[in-house]
Amino acid sequence: MEKRQVVVEKSHEVPVVKEVDVLVAGGGYAGFGAAMAAARNGADTLVVEQLSALGGLVTMGYVGLTFSYIEGIGYELFDELKKVNAVKGRFLDVEKTKVVLEQMLLKEKVGILYNTTIVDSIVEDGAIKGVIIHNKSGRQAILAKRVVDASGDGDVSAYAGVPFESGCPQLDNYNQASSLVCRIGNVDLARYKDGGDDLTALWLKQVQEAVDAGELPYMIDKRVNWLVIVPGRDPKHQEILLCYAHSRKCRCLDAWDLTRQLIEQRLQNQWMIAFCRKRIPGFENAWLVDTAPLLGVRDSRRIMCEYKVTGQDLVDGRRFDDAVMRGMHAFDAHHPTEPGHIKHIVNENGKGEKEKCYVNPGNWREIPYRAIVPLKIDDLLVAGRNFSSDFMAQSGNRLVLECLNMGQAAGTAAALSIKDGVTPRKLKVKSLQARLIEMGVNLATAPEYGTGNVSTKCEVKREDLLMPEENKTGQASTVLRGDRRGNYKFFTENDEARKIEEFARRKAQTQEAAGYTNTGGDVGTNLE
Ligand SMILES: Cc1cc2nc3c(=O)[nH]c(=O)nc-3n(C[C@H](O)[C@H](O)[C@H](O)COP(=O)(O)OP(=O)(O)OC[C@H]3O[C@@H](n4cnc5c(N)ncnc54)[C@H](O)[C@@H]3O)c2cc1C
Repeated sequence: MEKRQVVVEKSHEVPVVKEVDVLVAGGGYAGFGAAMAAARNGADTLVVEQLSALGGLVTMGYVGLTFSYIEGIGYELFDELKKVNAVKGRFLDVEKTKVVLEQMLLKEKVGILYNTTIVDSIVEDGAIKGVIIHNKSGRQAILAKRVVDASGDGDVSAYAGVPFESGCPQLDNYNQASSLVCRIGNVDLARYKDGGDDLTALWLKQVQEAVDAGELPYMIDKRVNWLVIVPGRDPKHQEILLCYAHSRKCRCLDAWDLTRQLIEQRLQNQWMIAFCRKRIPGFENAWLVDTAPLLGVRDSRRIMCEYKVTGQDLVDGRRFDDAVMRGMHAFDAHHPTEPGHIKHIVNENGKGEKEKCYVNPGNWREIPYRAIVPLKIDDLLVAGRNFSSDFMAQSGNRLVLECLNMGQAAGTAAALSIKDGVTPRKLKVKSLQARLIEMGVNLATAPEYGTGNVSTKCEVKREDLLMPEENKTGQASTVLRGDRRGNYKFFTENDEARKIEEFARRKAQTQEAAGYTNTGGDVGTNLE
C-alpha cells in the first residue's frame, strides 16, 4: 500500500472566547515590555503564553543575566526586582522575577493566559484580526485590533504569511548553537573565589584538560559562557545558573531537531557537573538541581519588516530618523557548527580585499520603527529576538533588555495606532517617539554612557570568514554608573587597545561601584 503523504484535517468552527485591543503573543521580556506599554497607553491588553510563567528565556530558560541598555519600563522592573532582593548587579533570582513580572502586569490590568499555544493567525483582507489558540479548553479564537508577535520564534507572523529568514546564510542556514542552562546547588563561593585571580583562565584550562583526559567526551565549548550567582542565597551553599551546554548544527524551527538538542544537552549537563565537582574549587559537594524548562534557542525566525537591520548598521553605529530604541552590545553569535563565537562580519574594501569588522562594545546604535512593522500584513508588530535583521545584527541585538525595549516600542505603537485610527504602518513616527520619550526612553540626547565613537577594527584575512574566535582578554567590561537613571545602565567599552593593567584597574573599580563580589558577572566570559 502506498504511504500516505498528507491527511486532511477536518474543518470546524472555533469559538471566539475573547476580544481585546492588543494581543501580545509570548510573555518573554519583549512580550512583557509590549504588554506594559500597550496597557499604559490605554489598550485593553492580553498576553498569551505557551508556558506557565512570564519571562521567557530569562526565567524559563534560566538566563538570569540581563544585558544592555535599560530604558523606560526597564527601570521600574529593576526597582521592583530590587525591592524583593531578586537582583544583584546583573544576576537575577528567576523565580522571584516571574512573580514580579506577573504583579507588574496585573497592576496595569493586563490579562494573562498561560499554558496556551498560538497555533494560527486569523488574517482578513491583508490584516491580522486575531489568533487561534490551543489549550486545555481545546481550540479557540481570540480577536484583537492589534497583535504584537513577541513569540521569539515569530510564530504569529509566519502563520500570517509574513516572509522570514532563519539561520546563517554562509553556514547552510544553521541557527546559532543553542544552550540548555542548568541550575547547580551547594557551591562554596569562598572556595571558588580562592580559585585564582583569573577564573576565566581556570575554566578554559580545566575544560581543555578534561577533554584531553576524556572526562568531557568532546569539546562542547572552550569556555563556560557564564554563571549566575543567584542573589539572596547562602554563599556557603550557593545556587548558581551555569551556561555551558551547546548543540551545533541546529534547526530551531524543527521540533525533531529541538528534541535532539534537548536530549544531547541534558547529557552534557551531567558531564559538566561531574567535571565541576572534580576540577573547580568550591564545587566539590555541588549537585545538579535541574536543567531549564525551556531550551535556550538564541535565534530562529527573523521576521522581515519594512526595514532589515544589518550587521553593517551595527558596525557603523547607525542612527535612524524613525529610531525607537538603542542598543550597544557587540556581535555575539554562538558558532553554528563548531565551538567558539563569531564576533565579526567580513566586508570587501575598496581594494577588493576582505576586512573583518567588529562592533566596538559600547558604541550605541539605533533600531528604526520600520524594523518592527512586518511586510505584507497590517495591524501586526514584532518585538524581541525575532525582529527584522540579518544573522549578525540579530546576534548583537538579541540581549534581554534590548528585547524589552523593542517590546515597549511595539506595545506603544499598537496602542497609539488604535487611538489614531491608523494601521501601525501609517502611524506618525514623531508622535510614537514623543510618547516613548515621555515614558522614559532616551531617544532625544546622546546617552551619557557608551562611547558613541564608531570605529571598526579590520584586518585583511580572507580565510577566516565565519571562523570562531576565542574570548580575548579585555574584550569588554561592564560598567554600572552611579546616579539613579544610570544605576542600571550597562555600558560596555572596548579595551582591546589598552594595557591589561588598565583593564584590571577599571574592572576592580566598576565591580566595587556595582557591589559585585569578585566573581560577579565576569566569570567565564565578559560577554554573553
Ligand atoms: C542560552 C542563552 C543565553 C543567553 N544569555 C544572555 C545574557 O547573558 N544576557 C542577555 O542579555 N541575553 C542573553 N541571551 C539572549 C536573551 O535571553 C534572549 O534573546 C531574550 O531573552 C529574548 O527575549 P524575547 O522576549 O524576544 O523571547 P523569549 O524569551 O524567547 O520569549 C518568547 C516567549 O514566547 C512564548 N511563545 C513562543 N511561541 C509561542 C506560541 N506559539 N504561543 C504562545 N507563546 C509562545 C515562549 O514560551 C516565550 O515565553 C541568552 C539567550 C540564550 C538562549
